[in-house]
Amino acid sequence: MMNRSLIVANWKMHLNVQQASLYVHHFNKVLNYHRSVEVVLAPTLLALQPLSLEVDRRKIHLAAQNAYDKDEGPYTGEVSFTMLSGLVDYAIIGHSERRIYFSESLELIRDKVTAAIRNGIKPILCIGESKPERTAGETKRVIHDQLMSAISNLTAEEVKNVTVAYEPVWAISTFGGENAEPNEIQKVIDYIRYQISELYGAKVSNDVRVLYGGSVDDDSVGGYLALDGCDGTLVGAASLDYQSFASIIDKAFLVYQSKKKD
Ligand code: PEP
Repeated sequence: MMNRSLIVANWKMHLNVQQASLYVHHFNKVLNYHRSVEVVLAPTLLALQPLSLEVDRRKIHLAAQNAYDKDEGPYTGEVSFTMLSGLVDYAIIGHSERRIYFSESLELIRDKVTAAIRNGIKPILCIGESKPERTAGETKRVIHDQLMSAISNLTAEEVKNVTVAYEPVWAISTFGGENAEPNEIQKVIDYIRYQISELYGAKVSNDVRVLYGGSVDDDSVGGYLALDGCDGTLVGAASLDYQSFASIIDKAFLVYQSKKKD
């Protein structure tokens, strides 16, 4: 049984509460519902509460873009996974912008993944090498280190609830947005699954969803989704336009159907 595709909009620090509501209002009109494609919006934290009342949660799931690893306490300015539980189904963890701009360490990301799982929230764990690491031939080492450390506290059952988003830093629009060749991405997706299967076995590795993210739009997305073992995509800039995000979802449905036939 193939996993449902997972298509995630990461709005980053764009769209305020009002704009987010307006987006959902328009998006609902153009969004085609496909049972085989799961749609997730990750708005600003402030918009999660209002959007949770505005979206049909059978069709659209919500994700936090970040949260803190402690459940409660004197951590001024932070929001915990405990506070988000019931409000979101997913949380993006380890995004390269957080690793780079906010110096999030492997240990902190591991603790955030653990906290998300402890609170019943499914982590979307972002991993990926920088351009200098890629040039130095260190892609596999970086993927290994980021992946293995992040899931090291989890049982096999818990790992099944993790989605891994492979996002080469050099392909993300924030950091250059170079176009990645799908066959280069295929090798890394295979490696991610190999690593998980080495540690948790082939069944768990098959159950984990692996996404691609990096300047994907409705033109380029098909090439990535068609890859073996690619279960969806994490979309940044192109998700800010509800029409283009809805087209990406329709593409995902078409690719899902054609993969099912193979
Ligand atoms: C991202 O930051 O997760 C991302 C994929 O961004 P973009 O699509 O803008 O490259």
